[in-house]
Amino acid sequence: MPIITRSAAAVEGEDWQQILAQAFRRPQELLEYLDLPLSEMPERLQACQEFSMLVPRTYAALMQSGNATDPLLLQVLPQATENEHRPGYITDPLAEKDTNIQPGIIHKYRGRVLLLATSGCAVNCRYCFRRHFAYGDNRISRKQWAEALNYVATDSSISEVILSGGDPLLLQDDALQELVTLIEAIPHVRRLRIHSRLPVVIPQRLTPALQSLLSNSRLQVSMVLHINHATELSDALRLPLQALRQSGVTLLNQAVLLRKVNNTLGILSDLSERLFEFGVLPYYLHLLDSVRGAHHFDISEQEAVFLYRQLLAELPGYLVPRLVREEAGKANKSPINLDR
Ligand SMILES: *Cc1c(COP(=O)(O)O)cnc(C)c1O
Ligand code: SF4
Repeated sequence: MPIITRSAAAVEGEDWQQILAQAFRRPQELLEYLDLPLSEMPERLQACQEFSMLVPRTYAALMQSGNATDPLLLQVLPQATENEHRPGYITDPLAEKDTNIQPGIIHKYRGRVLLLATSGCAVNCRYCFRRHFAYGDNRISRKQWAEALNYVATDSSISEVILSGGDPLLLQDDALQELVTLIEAIPHVRRLRIHSRLPVVIPQRLTPALQSLLSNSRLQVSMVLHINHATELSDALRLPLQALRQSGVTLLNQAVLLRKVNNTLGILSDLSERLFEFGVLPYYLHLLDSVRGAHHFDISEQEAVFLYRQLLAELPGYLVPRLVREEAGKANKSPINLDR
């Protein structure tokens, strides 16, 4: 079994929790670190109040100094425009409240349940559709896992458990092991999926312990990374992802189409090619959910389709993610109609 080397797993002897503890939490610090002017500070602080800023230094290190329109920076730096309310942009665009059937469980997809394993993330993305989600009501403790999984155990149509959040990889490895063991005990569950952005912002999260717990599971494991730009695939991610893949974990990516971040043909095709280089297949390309405070990231469906058609012409089919939108009340993601 390949082992993630110590040098790839730890930079300057820091583990992922230490890196997370030292994350930038104030726009001022991040702007200073990037040598950017503080001129917009009052508005930024105001935008921060509803949904705080959180940016690990390992992620900030991938940004270009002095560039106020860096595509990574735009994803995480609060903007004054977040406070402008636009019609159609609402707090719960996917109506998850209705499918949030008991604390910690969302059952809206057939055969699959989402288990909200944690309430937080290692980075706060400004476009996040869960930025207003009632995480407070969903803070499930380790004791409540058994209860939530009871629900899974009583419904034999469920063959896949998706660990979501928040970010499930915020759980420490021993807690994650405990959770996976509980899931493995349910005979009709065959697959385990982890949706996470944590390795993207802190590659050190892909520890040898995580790799071995996933590779030793009886479940078929996949990990869906949330990577929006080729620059997010840093060299520090290369070896740990390779090791995961070699231990049998299927690696997929879902990206969100974001204005000024990745809405050009060049950026999208670079992303697909670099993902493949890292052993990750492009899976979904999402249109933005209409969440309040994120309208400035949105592009029209027409523009998205125009871009997507170019992508189809540019890349081999296996590097073209599915262009989809998530719609409230639908039991699957809706493919975007390309013939209009
Ligand atoms: C879409 C989505 C799912 C379900 O995805 P499928 O691949 O269609 O089963 C699960 N979790 C998250 C976070 C998603 O966005
Ligand atoms: S990591 Fe995912 S869930 Fe967390 S803030 Fe970013 S987009 Fe939202």
